[in-house]
Amino acid sequence: MLAEYSFLVMLWVLLFGLAVGSFLNVVIYRLPIMLEKSWFSDCRELLDIHPAETEDKSNQTFNLIVPRSACPSCGHAITAWENIPLISYLVLRGRCSECAHPISIRYPLTEAFTGVMAVLSVWVFGFGYQALAAFVLCSALIAMSLIDLQHKLLPDNITLPLLWLGLLLNSFALFTDLQSAVWGAALGYGVFWLVFQLFKLLTGKEGMGYGDFKLLAALGAWLGWQYLAQIILLSSMIALVAAVLYLLITRQSQFPKIPYGPFLSCAGGIALFYGAQINHAYLAWAGLL
Ligand SMILES: [Zn+2]
Repeated sequence: MLAEYSFLVMLWVLLFGLAVGSFLNVVIYRLPIMLEKSWFSDCRELLDIHPAETEDKSNQTFNLIVPRSACPSCGHAITAWENIPLISYLVLRGRCSECAHPISIRYPLTEAFTGVMAVLSVWVFGFGYQALAAFVLCSALIAMSLIDLQHKLLPDNITLPLLWLGLLLNSFALFTDLQSAVWGAALGYGVFWLVFQLFKLLTGKEGMGYGDFKLLAALGAWLGWQYLAQIILLSSMIALVAAVLYLLITRQSQFPKIPYGPFLSCAGGIALFYGAQINHAYLAWAGLL
C-alpha cells in the first residue's frame, strides 16, 4: 500500500519536473535574447542612436511569455498539445508537425533531466520544503549551465536572486545555519576573485568570468562555507575529465574553450544531494573524525 502510494507521488513529482523542464527550455532560449535586446537598447540610448537607424526590430514585445513559441523553420505556432513535454516530441518523432523540420533533441533531454532532478530532490530530502527548494536550485543550475554553454554567459538575473534566496532560506536554517550561509557567499565570491586576480597577474589572461564568482557565492549561500572546497575540487575534476574525454573522442590536440559555469553547476548539484556524505567521508579519511 505504502509503496504504491509513493510510486504515485513520485509519478506526479516527475510530471511536475517535466513541466518545469519545459519552462526552462523557454528561459534558456529567450533570456539571452532578452538580455541582448536590452543591452543594444542601452547602447543606442548612450550613443544617442535612433532605433530607426539600426536594423534591430526590437519594438515587438519579447519576454518569457510573449510571443507564443513557434517553429524556427516555418514559424508554425506551437499548439497547446504540442507543448506537452516529452510526449509530443515522441508523438511527432522529433519533427515540426507543419514542415517536418527536425526539433533539437536538446529540448526533450532538458525536460527529462529536470524531471529526474525533481524525483531525486524528493528522494533525498523527502516530501517538503527542503525538496522544493533543492529542486528550485537544480532548475536554476540547469538553466544557467545551458545558457553558459551556448552564450558563455551566466546571467545576473539568475545568479544574484539565487544568492539572496539561499540566504533567505537559510535564515530558517533550511540547509545550513545563517552564519555558514553568509560566510559561504562571501568566501565563495572572494576565493574565485583572488584566484582570478592571481592568474591574471601571472599569465596576463582572464581564466574565469565574474559570473563564476557569483555562482560560487550563490552555492555558498545555499550550502554553507563548509562545502566550498568540495565544490571547487569536484568542479575542476569534472572539467578535467570532460576535457580529456573531449580530446579522446574528437582526436583534437587542443583543449576546447569551454565556460566553467556548467562544471560549477554540476559540482553544486552533487554537493547539494551528497555533499554531507562526501565531507564526512573526507574528514574520516583524513582522521579528523
Ligand atoms: Zn515548422
